[in-house]
Amino acid sequence: MSENIPHWLTKQASLSPHATALELEDGSRFTFYELMEQSQAFARKLANQGVVEGAKVGIFSTNCKGMVIAIHALSYLHAVAVLFNVRLTKKELAFQIEDADVAQILVKDDLEDHLRDMNLSTKVTPYSFVTKTEETSHQLASEIDLEDAFTIMYTSGTTGNPKGVVHTYGNHWWSATGSALNIGIHADDKWLAALPLFHIGGLSLLLKSVIYGMPVYLMEKFNVQKVHYAIMKCNVTIASVVTVMLQQLVDFLGEGEYPKAFRCMLLGGGPAPKGLLELSKAKQIPVFQSYGMTETSSQIVTLSPNDALRKLGSAGKPLFPAQLTIMDADQGGVGEIVVKGPMVTRGYYKNQYATTKALKEGWLSTGDLGRLDGEGFLYVVERRNDLIISGGENIYPSEIESVLSSMNGVKEVGVTGIEDAKWGQVPAAFIILDGPPISEAAIRQYAAENVAAFKIPKQIYFINELPRNASNKLLRNELYKLIP
Ligand code: ATP
Ligand code: MG
Repeated sequence: MSENIPHWLTKQASLSPHATALELEDGSRFTFYELMEQSQAFARKLANQGVVEGAKVGIFSTNCKGMVIAIHALSYLHAVAVLFNVRLTKKELAFQIEDADVAQILVKDDLEDHLRDMNLSTKVTPYSFVTKTEETSHQLASEIDLEDAFTIMYTSGTTGNPKGVVHTYGNHWWSATGSALNIGIHADDKWLAALPLFHIGGLSLLLKSVIYGMPVYLMEKFNVQKVHYAIMKCNVTIASVVTVMLQQLVDFLGEGEYPKAFRCMLLGGGPAPKGLLELSKAKQIPVFQSYGMTETSSQIVTLSPNDALRKLGSAGKPLFPAQLTIMDADQGGVGEIVVKGPMVTRGYYKNQYATTKALKEGWLSTGDLGRLDGEGFLYVVERRNDLIISGGENIYPSEIESVLSSMNGVKEVGVTGIEDAKWGQVPAAFIILDGPPISEAAIRQYAAENVAAFKIPKQIYFINELPRNASNKLLRNELYKLIP
């Protein structure tokens, strides 16, 4: 059964035509009416460029107004937007273009050369070229079918090859409404988007903007000074960040304080060291931890404001329309996190194998380990694949990383299991220092004060750089390559 709603941007343009939809760093603003008009015009031009209903259209872009318009324009044509991470290697990008059957790629003008160098057989069209195209009299979508696919976005590829997650309009709709039922919508809300729109945490903000009638303050990329400025001076009330961003913001804030109107720092994308959460709490930064993934169309679990201080370190409870359970829990209650809800993808593009493996009757096996406390709050523990089993004991690398990274003079830490004749596996730590040398003994001593003996890294390597993917996530399964 199809479930149609009015096209969301057209609807918002009729409900609040003069309200600001988009605000840019240069101070320019666009209303919902302007955004609709420009997106529709762009859609008619794209139709002239051969974009047809159902076509997979790649977008290779950093955050800018053109990208926002391109995304909405594709919805007016019932085409599917395939969003690429601009930091992918050429090989990774070529794989995604091919895998998603991309018919044409829209590119931000200053990134065009990057694609031209690849000699792709796929048509590459810079935004400015579309803008110069004549409009056709194409009939644009007036409704959205919530069952239809709208976007394809590849997972970060932290645990293997990236998979193309298909999001329906309904997935995005429920993600936005589920989040609103948790965080609420205030009349003065303005959401800062410094996360890339090619990640789900960024894209979801554009759709929230249209569905809530709320302005988004869009930044080309994260810059600690600029984000700080936006929070202090530009009436931003909510910002979405990942851990490294929060770390920099906290340092930058120093002894200062954010304005009272700034009500939510939505933190997601990966684990956050407890020290950072405590520091944020001390500085009265309203951090809302969240848990989610590309497959859940952004956060599916969030720590609501009432519980934020009481449950530090927890990712919270599943959003109103979502359910969560822990499968095959061990004695400590830790097992795989399995989630269900209308924001969860129906599957991976043309990858039935991965889809059937991950999804059973709507329940998504996340590949993450976690536990629930007595009140039903989720604590994300580790990715299942990263678990170290040492002499029958489970060791979670992120726990050791979190401890060691709180040591003075330690900048970053990656921990993985290495083979050991006696214990099967033992933890090894790869450490980047940001001060004078520290002895291995001192590190072991520090670990011993904070974790059980079997978790103390048996091997310690001092390195200059950790292996990370295009999403800047630590690739623990590549750490062993750094062993001299
Ligand atoms: P791939 O699926 O290709 O291996 P990925 O899982 O890193 O890549 P994303 O969808 O970008 O791709 O990331 C989602 C993952 O990020 C989650 O499955 C989880 O492992 C991690 N994550 C998200 N939020 C949290 C959190 N609050 N605490 C710990 N880990 C988190
Ligand atoms: Mg994943």
